[in-house]
Amino acid sequence: MTERGLLIVLSGPSGVGKGTVRKAIFEDDAVDFRYSISATTRKPRPGEENGKDYFFVSREEFEDKIQAGDMLEYAEYVGNYYGTPRSFIEETLASGRDVFLEIDVQGALQVKAKMPEGVYIFLTPPDIKNLRQRLIGRGTDSAEVIEKRVAAARDELKKMINYNYAVENDVVAHAVDRIKAIITAERLRVSRVLEQIAEQ
Ligand code: 5GP
Repeated sequence: MTERGLLIVLSGPSGVGKGTVRKAIFEDDAVDFRYSISATTRKPRPGEENGKDYFFVSREEFEDKIQAGDMLEYAEYVGNYYGTPRSFIEETLASGRDVFLEIDVQGALQVKAKMPEGVYIFLTPPDIKNLRQRLIGRGTDSAEVIEKRVAAARDELKKMINYNYAVENDVVAHAVDRIKAIITAERLRVSRVLEQIAEQ
C-alpha cells in the first residue's frame, strides 16, 4: 500500500496575503506538492484562468456540487461561494502525493474536523505581537479606536489555536521560506519515515 500524502492547509484572516504567499510558493518549479484548485462562483479577475486559478462555476452548479457531496468544505465569502473539490484531494493523497490548500478560516476548520492529521498553517499579519505599540506610535488613532483594533485582532487570532503553525507574513519571501521549512520538517517526522520504511 502506498503511504498517503500529506495534507497541507494554509489559512488565516482575510487580507493577510494568503493568495500572494501561495502564488509565490508555486512559482518555484521545484515544488513537489500539488495545489488544490478551488471552485468559486465569483467572476474571474483579469488574467485569471479557469482550471488554473479557480474553477469558475455558476451558483447552481456550485449548489449541485454541495448537494452531491462533491465539496470537502465550502464557505460563503463576500457573497460568493468558495469550495474545495473532494475527489482531487482524495485521489492525490491516496496516490502518495502531498496536496496544498489555501482557504479561509471557516473552510480550514471544516477540513480539520474531517482530516485532523493534516498540517494546519495560520498566516498572521505582521507585527501582531506589538500591534498596540505600533498603533500608539503611529499617533493617528484615539485610545478607544486602538483598543477596538487590538480587540478585533485578538478575536481573529483566537482562531489560531486550531492550527499547528503560525507564520508571520512580514516579507512574502520569508513567509514562503518558513512554510517550505514546515513542510520539510513534517515530511521528516519519525512516524512518517517509519511508515515509509515499513512499506518497503
Ligand atoms: P479571492 O476572491 O481573493 O480569490 O479569495 C477570497 C478568499 O477565499 C480568500 O481568503 C481565499 O483564501 C478564500 N478561498 C479560496 N478558495 C477557497 C476554498 O476553496 N474554500 C474556502 N473556504 N475559502 C477559499
